Amino acid sequence: MKIFDTHIHSEGRSVEDLEKMTKEGIAKAITCAFYPIEPKFPETLIDLFRKLTTFEVERGRSAGMEIYPAIGVHPRCISPNYEKTIESMEEIECVAFGEIGLEIANDLEVEGLREQLKLAKSLDKPCIIHTPRKNKVEDSENIERCRFFGGNRSCNQGNR
Ligand SMILES: [Zn+2]
Repeated sequence: MKIFDTHIHSEGRSVEDLEKMTKEGIAKAITCAFYPIEPKFPETLIDLFRKLTTFEVERGRSAGMEIYPAIGVHPRCISPNYEKTIESMEEIECVAFGEIGLEIANDLEVEGLREQLKLAKSLDKPCIIHTPRKNKVEDSENIERCRFFGGNRSCNQGNR
């Protein structure tokens, strides 16, 4: 049986790991954008997107796997002037935005998510949503309640 894994982080895996995944049946996978530290510059993520859409696709191919890149500003990777990163997403070819979402659901994260969802809607792009590790149910309900399209910011329950 062939498997399509819709959420991996291939850049954290060696080619040997990817080959093992291929052997186990993972023929295709979506690799999601994530940077392990808070970037100091919006260009850091733009370079990451470039890596995912070129280098990672090639690495996947060499391991026998078709890798499809998803790009986005993960809530733990919001740099100063992150709007520039989001603007760049309009031009970059990808199958989805991701992963994007909320981690602690503060105003910055909510605004970043709202902007990316707006862009996704305008480009008709599917999104892979990260839900908070703590307060998962409550904050995930906030994502739904906000709707993010013309929704009221006050639906976010303050800074946490
Ligand atoms: Zn992930």
